[in-house]
Amino acid sequence: MIKPNCSALQRNELITTLKTTNYDLVVIGGGITGAGIALDAALRGLKVALIEKNDFAWGTSSRSTKLIHGGLRYLKQLEVGIVMEVGKERAIVYGNAPHIVVPEKMLLPIIKNGSLGKRSTSLGLMVYDRLAGVKKNERRYMLNKQQTIGAEPLLNQEILKGGGMYYEYRSDDARLTIEIIKTAVEEGALCLNYIKCIDYLYENDKIVACKAKDVFTGEEFVINTKKVINATGPWVDTLRKKDNSLKGKHLQLTKGVHIVVPKEKLPILQSVYFDVQDGRMIFAIPRQNIVYIGTTDTVYNQDINEPFASKEDVEYIIKATNHMFPTIKLATNDVISTWSGLRPLIYEEGKSASELSRKDEIFISDSGLISIAGGKLTGYRKMAQRVVDVVCNDLAKAENRTFKTCSTKNQQLSGGNLNGLSIKNYATQLQQTYTQFSVDEIEILVHKYGCNTNIILDYSLKNQQDLLLAEAWYCLNYEFSFNINDFYIRRTGRLYFERPTIEENLEKVHEYFTNTLQTNHTIAEKMKDEFTKAYNLVLAFKN
Ligand code: FAD
Repeated sequence: MIKPNCSALQRNELITTLKTTNYDLVVIGGGITGAGIALDAALRGLKVALIEKNDFAWGTSSRSTKLIHGGLRYLKQLEVGIVMEVGKERAIVYGNAPHIVVPEKMLLPIIKNGSLGKRSTSLGLMVYDRLAGVKKNERRYMLNKQQTIGAEPLLNQEILKGGGMYYEYRSDDARLTIEIIKTAVEEGALCLNYIKCIDYLYENDKIVACKAKDVFTGEEFVINTKKVINATGPWVDTLRKKDNSLKGKHLQLTKGVHIVVPKEKLPILQSVYFDVQDGRMIFAIPRQNIVYIGTTDTVYNQDINEPFASKEDVEYIIKATNHMFPTIKLATNDVISTWSGLRPLIYEEGKSASELSRKDEIFISDSGLISIAGGKLTGYRKMAQRVVDVVCNDLAKAENRTFKTCSTKNQQLSGGNLNGLSIKNYATQLQQTYTQFSVDEIEILVHKYGCNTNIILDYSLKNQQDLLLAEAWYCLNYEFSFNINDFYIRRTGRLYFERPTIEENLEKVHEYFTNTLQTNHTIAEKMKDEFTKAYNLVLAFKN
């Protein structure tokens, strides 16, 4: 039997292994929740497979605000337990993946008639620092009006009363997911994208296998397993329904939209978390040459597979931004990209979208299907720990086996070993070996691939290949990228952050993937059509 790796070229062998192995656990869904579960389970010694019907992180886990955060807003809702847990978790995730989780200074303007007063903000941030166990050098400090203007001259000075400065951690949700998947595979899990769970098989009314479908070829096959975890985010109820176990609590999806504008349109000096006139709060977060702003939070009952930013969503964000930064005069034409994601929240009678708890819950059906829903990107590790505990306890009792305890707290993720250096210093050090590239070029790669960056640089030099194609080569061979969608949307985020420059090299990269993988013509065309659709969908609000 082969040792699974993350090369797209290994797909056929991996499918054969899926068909011929009896697993302890099959995880359905390759978002952050499923990825975290696969890693935790593999580390404890379970024989685990994870299947994802699209690409890894294709669902909500590539469409969030991309913050690993202590959840200040939950303090406002008095969800103290969540603040404590996610606050501590963010320090752990930062330690495990310092290349994609970076501390980010966040300014909280205090305004007339805003949701936060000076005293309550100071007190709130202090409680937050304590609950979340914030490091001393990252603790909050308060600013008077003049200091706040100094920190951010673009703010609306007519309504400004002062500000609070604190730290959040900026991340890349889809890259965090793929680094967890890569680590899970290194630890013995078999993970594969474009494999859909279409049904379950039962013996004595208990699930004993998943019926799966290869999305590329249409081939259906069976994966035998003792336990199944449904970690499908917004699709959790769809998968529960297939098991005839959708009763009691169910999901309430809410949609969240972000818009992307060029940095020169909103040249803020740091991230800002600001009031909207309806009592909500939104983020403006600079990243390289752009700033992204969001999010909305509205109840969603339409097609789960294709949420997109509507004209109303975009206008809401623009209006709120212009209110807080009145001189920039942002218009819909300035928007260069958007994304839209669905929060898989647990329904609570009589609560509005923003009031619904972000807590996660586990449901276990009579047939043994274990579903996990709700939660946050930030809390993925703890969610995984809780649900893998359930599986290990059951298997330990049923089979008299022992399993290791959860060890993900200290598990470095793939790419995460920067030798204690900052991203900038790591890139500068690397440049001394790879003098053909600039520090800036290397730094961009380190932000995505961490200590695996040298593999890309070596390939580029040895094969005299430009960096874009060397990156595509890496993503195909080490990150299960099968096509331009995987590469431009989730592995590199270019659809969102560099959309205007994509077309230049699109055909070249498409050919690289289809030639290397010998993709059949119909599928190659389908992938291209899907990319065109995604490329247009982010600006569909203009139609
Ligand atoms: P998903 O990422 O949706 O993954 C589920 C996967 O299951 C999908 O990839 C899907 O294709 C797959 N699947 C579905 N059906 C099948 C099937 N039949 N067979 C195989 N696979 C299947 N959290 C934070 O901590 N910080 C933030 O800044 C933040 N911001 C957010 C902003 C927005 C707008 C939203 C919507 C959420 C935000 N969150 C944030 C929450 C966080 O993003 C989610 O909690 C998290 O991404 C959910 O991950 P998941 O793996 O449970 O679901």
